[in-house]
Amino acid sequence: RYQSLAYNRVLEIHKQHLSPVVTAYFQKPLLLHQGHMEWLFDAEGNRYLDFFSGIVTVSVGHCHPKVNTIAQKQLGRLWHTSTVFFNPSIHEYAEKLSALLPEPLKVIFLTNSGSEANDLAMLMARAHTNNIDIISFRGAYHGCSPYTLGLTNVGPYKMQLPSGMGCQSTMCPDVFRGPWGGSHCRDSPVQTIRKCSCAPDCCQAKDQYIEQFKDTLNTSVAKSVAGFFAEPIQGVNGVVQYPKGFLKEAFELVRERGGVCIADEVQTGFGRLGSHFWGFQTHDVLPDIVTMAKGIGNGFPMAAVVTSPEIAKSLAKCLLHFNTFGGNPVACAIGSAVLAVIKEENLQENSQEVGTYMLLKFAKLRDEFEIVGDIRGKGLMIGIEMVQDKMSRQPLSREEVNQIHEDCKNMGLLIGRGGIFSQTFRIAPSMCITKPEVDFAVDVLRSALTQHLERRVK
Ligand code: PMP
Repeated sequence: RYQSLAYNRVLEIHKQHLSPVVTAYFQKPLLLHQGHMEWLFDAEGNRYLDFFSGIVTVSVGHCHPKVNTIAQKQLGRLWHTSTVFFNPSIHEYAEKLSALLPEPLKVIFLTNSGSEANDLAMLMARAHTNNIDIISFRGAYHGCSPYTLGLTNVGPYKMQLPSGMGCQSTMCPDVFRGPWGGSHCRDSPVQTIRKCSCAPDCCQAKDQYIEQFKDTLNTSVAKSVAGFFAEPIQGVNGVVQYPKGFLKEAFELVRERGGVCIADEVQTGFGRLGSHFWGFQTHDVLPDIVTMAKGIGNGFPMAAVVTSPEIAKSLAKCLLHFNTFGGNPVACAIGSAVLAVIKEENLQENSQEVGTYMLLKFAKLRDEFEIVGDIRGKGLMIGIEMVQDKMSRQPLSREEVNQIHEDCKNMGLLIGRGGIFSQTFRIAPSMCITKPEVDFAVDVLRSALTQHLERRVK
């Protein structure tokens, strides 16, 4: 047990001195003191199975011993150089990361956060194409810097002040909530239950979403586009997947109009999706720019943009890129350790195997409970969408979802939230989780749902 500030004192300080914009989960916010791999411990020593890994960030486990040892070694050697000096930790990392990306994606820019990485990708797209407009999906989250806020279009994160000049949003081809349904899941063991009667491999829906996309390109953007940003699976919007083939066609349309395509791998990268190391590979596309953060540093502030030499040169023509902390030796040592652990511990394979096991187990809950509307995702990025009933697909009220969420926490399971109405539970544990832990999580959620229905009857 760890002695430090008392719980009430923490609440007081939070209220007086920390940003009122920051929201906390749970009626009684959780005060965490320690973490070990997929487990977290609060001030009273209660333990929680962390199935949201600090918002899809702790990729290989909290305080992973190998990552800790390497970080401590680097802390004792050299913390900081800034971009004007060289350091082997940085150069080794750049070589390792670039080896994981296909040609021509070989030039790396290191930053501190996903928002910064996407800011830089926006600049690159504009510098390279000499166009201004950048397109993103409704429901997308690409950051909350003044630049990227223009691309972020999800629920409470949508800026109520003018932001992001030149940013256009386009309809999200959401297989569950979109008007035309569609299928993302010809390769998934779990099929989305459709509103329409189309065949499981229906591609009509994809064509209709593509027509909408063309409409955005042709009308709003005056036929010139700098770039198109897409998350391979939307995270904050509640693990939203697109119809199969959509991204491939969308990329072609953007390129026909002179734009570049940017894959935001902040949540989907580093093996989380199981079948592939990068989310874009699951769509069979090759982006011009890839951005990454979160899991790259297992929770240490670190992010990157990877692009081709050609696009990097276009940026160099108009900007001397400098970043005091981006890619410092400690971050890079941690980045290398994370890559080593993913490989040595077969964590991508574990994401695939345990993720598929979990998807099938959660699919049973969808069959058991009328209020579980959809189970979707890939590898260890899973969404459980809560509805009033399967027919109407009206989102379950926020109060009810809050209560189920709180009950799971009280039974020792931490899961995330997402979606415009905060109606989707998000599951994204560290990639080291095991099948018995999945069984525990499914049992907890089943109990929370049962308790909820019993409360409703009373
Ligand atoms: N892109 C995506 C897909 C994200 O989920 C996030 C963070 N939620 C970001 C970008 C921004 O990352 P950061 O919070 O590190 O700025």
